[in-house]
Amino acid sequence: PQLANQIAAGEVVERPASVVKELVENSIDAGATSIHVEIEQGGHKRICIRDNGRGIAKDELRLALSRHATSKIYGLDDLDAIVSMGFRGEALASISSVSRCLLTSKPVTQDEAWQAKAEGRDMDVEVTPAAHPNGTSVDVVDLFYNTPARRRFLRAAKTEFQHIEHVIKRIALGHANVAFELTHNNKKILKFPAATTLKRIEQVCKPAFVHEMAEVNYAYEELVITGWVSKVGVGFDNNEQQYLFINNRMMKDRLLMHAIRQAYEGMLPDAKYSGFVIFLHIPPDELDVNVHPAKHEVRFRQGRKVHDAIFKAISEVVLSGAK
Ligand code: ADP
Ligand code: MG
Repeated sequence: PQLANQIAAGEVVERPASVVKELVENSIDAGATSIHVEIEQGGHKRICIRDNGRGIAKDELRLALSRHATSKIYGLDDLDAIVSMGFRGEALASISSVSRCLLTSKPVTQDEAWQAKAEGRDMDVEVTPAAHPNGTSVDVVDLFYNTPARRRFLRAAKTEFQHIEHVIKRIALGHANVAFELTHNNKKILKFPAATTLKRIEQVCKPAFVHEMAEVNYAYEELVITGWVSKVGVGFDNNEQQYLFINNRMMKDRLLMHAIRQAYEGMLPDAKYSGFVIFLHIPPDELDVNVHPAKHEVRFRQGRKVHDAIFKAISEVVLSGAK
């Protein structure tokens, strides 16, 4: 099973930022309203995520670290209607197979906290009493210490940290009601108190984008498209301020990026730059998210319809803003 975990780790855990993404998504799934992320040396040395979510009961700690232990799929039907961020039950097992991993948790319903320790190859998980407030901490130390090939592919701490920072910004934009803090080598880098989506965009995005954005609010049949887009600009050379969410999950969907680009090109053929934060809300049964373990990709039942709706939603706003 350990080899299987390490193979799966290759798919889920590319670099420190992918660990951060999986763990923060778990915290959100657990209903956390506050998430602290502490990074040391770009995540090479240590990644620690602390949340105030519903916690993991003592008896479930060991299970949570084992492969395909997900508490999020109850029947086959659920696979077609994925509402939570995670559904594969692979992340914790994968991460703990390539690091020294500590999982500490206290559900509200339990008087004491407990800690599970898993270290690389030997999967005898040790469970001991611990001190922890309601919620969960996952401490990932020495990532890839036992997979030297992968360790060699890690970039400089600064670069890895930039990826982590970007992951936090993306997730934070999709979950404005959750507070986030990010530190690097004990220095506070990001602090986003819980906010409205608009306030969160102001916290996360560059003022240059924030100052010239217009609101999108569009519905077509069961599709709802909301968000904020630049009133000016085209030329997708700078993708830093470009965020697309499908049911609050950040996606890099080519079809929809095409629709967005087309809308800008049609409306403002010679502007220079454009930013957008777009949220597409779509019934889960119109989607197949289970395409790639890292879950960046999605397939639509009716791609054309979604494409056209995005195109219209943005064209409307860009046009009115340009007038
Ligand atoms: P998945 O998220 O796909 O279910 P994971 O390996 O990421 O799989 O997590 C395994 C299980 O551990 C989850 O289903 C959940 O029950 C539990 N878990 C993980 N992280 C947390 C957390 N921060 N708070 C509460 N439960 C958690
Ligand atoms: Mg998960």
